[in-house]
Parts: sequence; structure tokens; C-alpha cells
Amino acid sequence: MRQHGERDYPSECCGVLLGKAQGEVKLVAEVVALKNLRREPSRAQEFLPVDDPARETERNRFLVDPLEQLRVEKEARARSLEVLGYYHSHPDHPARPSAYDREHAWPWYSYVIVSVEQGIAKDLTCWVLAEDEAMLHPQPVEVIE
Ligand SMILES: [Zn+2]
Repeated sequence: MRQHGERDYPSECCGVLLGKAQGEVKLVAEVVALKNLRREPSRAQEFLPVDDPARETERNRFLVDPLEQLRVEKEARARSLEVLGYYHSHPDHPARPSAYDREHAWPWYSYVIVSVEQGIAKDLTCWVLAEDEAMLHPQPVEVIE
């Protein structure tokens, strides 16, 4: 996720977390890099329009391509993996969810944010929507070798 964030800097990158849920714990087995559809503004506007396409670009917004997402989900299911959440990067911004991130989050899924400062990946945080969907709560991340 950090490498992807650096590779796509100064644009936001995005991808999906695949693995298995065990009660409250999500075990991520792999991450799959997806294309940020905001790089194709006209197609992105068809799926999920932004208010100000001139200011809301791939630099500060990400959008998973619904067709690519469907394909990845199918392939994951065939291998008995679940979609556990999504990740995206914040180029030159802290690894904290924006209002936009909260508004577009779905219940249960985990959202990893990687901050990339001047092209170098820094903090990595993880968030989940609260029961009342009013805010995203931080979730601990543990790397298991
Ligand atoms: Zn964000």
C-alpha cells in the first residue's frame, strides 16, 4: 500500500484488501491495486459525480472503477477470499479521513489511509465507520509475519 502510494504520487492511489474476517478481526491476506478512476474525469463523473470537477481530481479524490471492483470481487470469491476493505493515499495530507471519505464509507469495511509526503509514504492508519455512521473510528493495524 505504501509502495503504491509512492508510485502514484502526487495522485491518490486506491486498492482493495482481501482476506478473511474472524469475528471482530479482519485478516488481510493480500492487497490488490486498483486504478483511480478519477484519472478519467468524464467516466468518473458518470459513476459518482463530484460538485467541482476542476478542484476534485485524482490529486484529492479517488474512485474505484465499479467494473474493476466487480472483477476483483469475483476472483476473490473464487479463491474463498472476502473484500475486507479498501485503501487509498493522501498525497501531502495527513493519514486522517476527510469528510468526503466518511460520507463515502460503507459500514463494516475497513479503510486504510497512507499519507505520502513529497513522494515518501509515511503514516498508515485504518478506520471503520461507527454504528451511527457519524464518524470513522481508528482501528489498530498489526503486521503478522
Ligand atoms: Zn481520503
